[in-house]
Amino acid sequence: MVGVIGDPVRYSLSPLLHNAAFDALGLDWVSVAFPVPAGAVTDALAGMRAFGIVGLSVTMPHKHDAALGVDECTDVAARLGVVNCITRKAGRLVGDSTDGAGFVESLRRGAGFDPAGRKCLVVGAGGAARAVVMALADGGADEVVVVNRTGVRAAEAAALAGGAGRVGSTADISGAELVVQATSVGMAGIDRSGDGGISVPFDPALLHAGQLVADLVYHPAVTPLLAAAEAAGAQTVGGLGMLVHQAALAVERWTQQTAPVDAMWAAAKRSTPTG
Ligand code: NAP
Repeated sequence: MVGVIGDPVRYSLSPLLHNAAFDALGLDWVSVAFPVPAGAVTDALAGMRAFGIVGLSVTMPHKHDAALGVDECTDVAARLGVVNCITRKAGRLVGDSTDGAGFVESLRRGAGFDPAGRKCLVVGAGGAARAVVMALADGGADEVVVVNRTGVRAAEAAALAGGAGRVGSTADISGAELVVQATSVGMAGIDRSGDGGISVPFDPALLHAGQLVADLVYHPAVTPLLAAAEAAGAQTVGGLGMLVHQAALAVERWTQQTAPVDAMWAAAKRSTPTG
């Protein structure tokens, strides 16, 4: 058995993705959603040990607490200070962060884009943006510019890219080869901004042909920003690929088998509105 812990977790697509993978692999495994309230990660991990659960995906608000509660962290998880994937190995709980690697894989599979030597720009500096910034730098990006509403968080995120990272402004967007929208702006039915629900975090007129524009938001699959980017002639990648590929990496850590990514993609597309 594997599962996902979060609060709320009812709408998580993780069990669906994991179970699609197990079906395709012919494994008699099951993934379930465990609602775990904030502050109760230690209890959840004790349950994981007691019940012999092989793996857990970790979603909000537990990613930081999970990094403190596991027996060891991978290098990526330790540098980010968060864990989104826990694997039980010889009785020890190993925490990893697969969001960034899943994102880079989604660029490779979705657009044939490799960050090595490229000029990248990330709008946003929250948990998802930080994972993306670090993964792009680890992937050899020439530059990773971070643009965020709150400057101090932009500086913290840019530092994760080491020498390739710097804080920028929207004036840098036109010069980037890859533009990543990593804020929560554009999520269907959710207004976390407090500003009445804006649908794009910057002026899409800054985008142009020759750029790749990625949006981490996957509900809807085509966000207002991606629609505008396509209209401007840019290539686009939606956020569903990151979700699928981080789940695929988790399945590989748990089962030691190659994840059936196509089956996971098909399951994700069946459950996600396109507009
Ligand atoms: P988070 O930690 O809460 O960070 C939110 C970010 O959005 C911050 O940088 C925040 O800026 C910015 N922001 C919020 N409202 C804004 C506004 N009105 N204008 C400009 N910036 C605004 O969230 P997160 O966990 O990083 O998630 C960000 C998005 O990525 C969410 O939509 C989430 O669903 C998505 N996501 C997708 C995947 C995937 O697999 N595709 C994985 C993880 C997350 P401040 O710092 O100024 O507050």
